Amino acid sequence: MTDVFGDLVGQDEAVVTLRRAAASAAALLRAATPVAVGAGAPAGGGDPDGYDDLDALAEQFDEPGDPDRPGDPDRPGATADPGAPVPDAADPGAGMTHAWIFTGPPGSGRSVAARAFAAALQCVHGTGCGHCPGCHTTLAGTHADVRLVVPDGLSIGVGEMRALVLRAASTPSGGRWQIVIIEDADRLTEAAGNALLKAVEEPPPRTVFLLCAPSTHPDDVSVTIRSRCRVVPLRQPPAGAVAEVLVRRDGIAPDVAEWAAAAAQGHVGRARRLARDPEARQRRDAVLAVPRRLTGVGAAFDAASALIEAAEAEAAASVAEVDEAERAALQTALGAGGTGRGAAGAMRGAAGQLKDLEKRQKSRATRAQRDALDRALVDLAGFYRDALTMALRAPVAPVHTDTATLAAAGAQKWDAEGSLRRLEAVLECRAAIETNVKPRIAVEAMMLSLWRG
Ligand SMILES: [Zn+2]
Repeated sequence: MTDVFGDLVGQDEAVVTLRRAAASAAALLRAATPVAVGAGAPAGGGDPDGYDDLDALAEQFDEPGDPDRPGDPDRPGATADPGAPVPDAADPGAGMTHAWIFTGPPGSGRSVAARAFAAALQCVHGTGCGHCPGCHTTLAGTHADVRLVVPDGLSIGVGEMRALVLRAASTPSGGRWQIVIIEDADRLTEAAGNALLKAVEEPPPRTVFLLCAPSTHPDDVSVTIRSRCRVVPLRQPPAGAVAEVLVRRDGIAPDVAEWAAAAAQGHVGRARRLARDPEARQRRDAVLAVPRRLTGVGAAFDAASALIEAAEAEAAASVAEVDEAERAALQTALGAGGTGRGAAGAMRGAAGQLKDLEKRQKSRATRAQRDALDRALVDLAGFYRDALTMALRAPVAPVHTDTATLAAAGAQKWDAEGSLRRLEAVLECRAAIETNVKPRIAVEAMMLSLWRG
């Protein structure tokens, strides 16, 4: 591994942003502690930049969209629309800020990016060298000033968030930054989100919040939190980069890694699953059998039902275990029948917490279904994309090498135009579901289009 950003697959733009921010953060720290800047540097008044205390340090941060922060009228971007992100061009030199959101499609490496950035901030060289104690302990999860919140049981509640915010406000023991990484920030309860917002609005001078979420859609991150954060969008990495990482990090055979990375169309986690999990391969095979099965109207409706039901089953299986664990954890936490000192207090919030949990589990189940269906549609789009490129004799590798013969037969039968129409039908179906068209209706319409051509 060259440095801490080495495992961030195919995210060149994000890495540039984060390196710049880390360098800027290191410069702020050097300026705030003049004794550290080479021998003979005069303290305080002699500092040309004048960052001789932590408040001044805080003022140097670029505060995206902070309309009511007093005392800094000269802040870059102060005249910009307070709701809008401050474009880089408007804040030259201000690469660092208190709060960040890493967004991207599942598998793009949001938490990998957040951890790498945290390591770069704690790096004794300020670069994320990957070798110093700051980098090592951060990546290993043992750095005293880095708190990682992974809501794997109950989602992050308000009590936990308040405690977290309080601890994060303390002076960093390592002399650099207090960092809080919140994975799946879309799973904060509303109250926890409000507690976090207060901290992000009035950040302690040395505290940095790194949030990870699928998107900046208000369903994922509240508009007010989003307006205080800088967004680092991650994209789906190229297949070659994914295959390389599967071989290097997961020890998967190069030919399997290449097949899986191509079939997953750049989705790191999906590629890993395809390479390792026979059930995931079976589900994909079933989806890719759809074009062969479309022999009439009845068959088209059957195929639609099969696709929807497979997505529902996959989603149910993926959330069942964690749903049950959450319910059990909540019941334990609420101390059913408990007589301890905390029992009475716990019971007061019980009804609300149960309702909150059920609501969250329902929305997670819906999302899991949509995700599973979307994965199937992406696989299907890959098949028609292969048919199209073959019909056009384009010199590109097929997405699905194992159905290339079938795609070639389709290319001959449908020609480029017919292949393109079918590809468009799949993409239209995805778009329709995204805009909340009932999945079954969208999929049935798609299957009919695929059959008719
Ligand atoms: Zn380092």
